[in-house]
Amino acid sequence: MSSPQRILIIGLDCAAPELIFDAWRNHLSAIAGLMQRGVYGRLESCIPAITVPAWACMMSSRDPGQLGIYGFRNRADYSYTRMITANARAITVPRLWDLLGRAGKRVGLVGVPQTYPVSSVNGDLVSCFLTPNDRAQFTYPLSLKQDIARWVHGEFLMDVPNFRSDNKSAILQDIYRMADQHFTVCKRLLERKRYDFFMTVDMGIDRIHHAFWKYMDPRHPKHVPESPFAHAIYDYYRFIDEQIASLLNLIDDRTIVLVVSDHGAKAMIGGFCLNEWLIQEGYLALEEYPETPRSLDECRIDWTRTRAWGAGGYYGRLFLNVAGREPEGIVAADEVDLLRDEIMAKLESLPDHTGRIMGTRVFRPEAIYREVRGAAPDLLVYFGDLNWRSVGSVGRKALYTFENDTGPDDANHAQHGIFILYDPRRGGGGRYIDDISIYDVAPTLLHLLDLDVPPEMIGKVRDLWV
Ligand SMILES: [Zn+2]
Repeated sequence: MSSPQRILIIGLDCAAPELIFDAWRNHLSAIAGLMQRGVYGRLESCIPAITVPAWACMMSSRDPGQLGIYGFRNRADYSYTRMITANARAITVPRLWDLLGRAGKRVGLVGVPQTYPVSSVNGDLVSCFLTPNDRAQFTYPLSLKQDIARWVHGEFLMDVPNFRSDNKSAILQDIYRMADQHFTVCKRLLERKRYDFFMTVDMGIDRIHHAFWKYMDPRHPKHVPESPFAHAIYDYYRFIDEQIASLLNLIDDRTIVLVVSDHGAKAMIGGFCLNEWLIQEGYLALEEYPETPRSLDECRIDWTRTRAWGAGGYYGRLFLNVAGREPEGIVAADEVDLLRDEIMAKLESLPDHTGRIMGTRVFRPEAIYREVRGAAPDLLVYFGDLNWRSVGSVGRKALYTFENDTGPDDANHAQHGIFILYDPRRGGGGRYIDDISIYDVAPTLLHLLDLDVPPEMIGKVRDLWV
């Protein structure tokens, strides 16, 4: 009878295959070592490919529709204004660590998205970037907070403050400070206890992509040649690689190591003004068009003449004003599908600012999810297949903008992230595997631990060694 294996997951939010899979060239020796000894490939994210809900989809093997989480902020109901933040309370299904905890395994979690507000786990938990600040109760058990205060000096950063600003030096400093603090906590925890399952997620990679991509990428429309920040992203990946190396020194030879991201990253060309377009096409009517750009929430919408409105973000959400569903709905229930088809066709044939077809992809929730819970968007829109973001504000009198309405941001998310798995018992010899679905991660790990996969999980067990 062999002794059970353990799992260490190092999550790198937004880590891109294009940057990681040249690991040896980028001098990422710890990551390259895991790739060379294990298996690796691209991870296909959920739709939408964003942090909330992607990590929860990965760890629960449920899709966003089943979770009822379509982004960081969601409609609370079919009213026009009530929104809720999808924190840990929004998740009603068990995640991998819950299942393992129930099976008697000791778990440790540091910075895993959607773990705030904290709840009890069979082990230790330090919550995530959704925590307002370090005065909040961000640990389980409560006493862990005092330990962290001894290990880390000064404010414990839950996220990088103002990462969409022009103060790039401050952003860079905070990204390093946050990662250094979080990895210090990981090391202290791993030094003092053996965990059967330990997971941490670094948000710094996501923040550095959004803040510094244009300096690195000569194809970015706002590329700044020979900037002192040209190597900022590469340097940070190297720093993270050193942190990974130090965690690998603290685990035993029965530990399976997974380095994984929730989605990838790509250069952002600009923003497409979704609501501006809906106004031009006659779907959205304002009582008064604003003199200067402002968010749609600040405008008076004439609901008696509005059939659709949208929201901004890395992807676009479009809502229909449906009779009997929205308070002042005007689209008859039996016209919903026709209207959606019409809007989908128009969006998919949208040109970019140069007149070329943008390659926009539009999804109906019921076509991509097993179940559609909560007040889901009626359409989910990837403008230019995520080369463009969605801009929700109105008042620019233009469809294309190169200034982001929520602050400077150079990168958008990409559908594919990374998956690098090293299992000391199975090896892999550096084999490049076919894309793995984000939903297959939890079932595959349960299987490696010889545990049953709950039938509610929608992913499958991937045999990565055939
Ligand atoms: Zn993310």
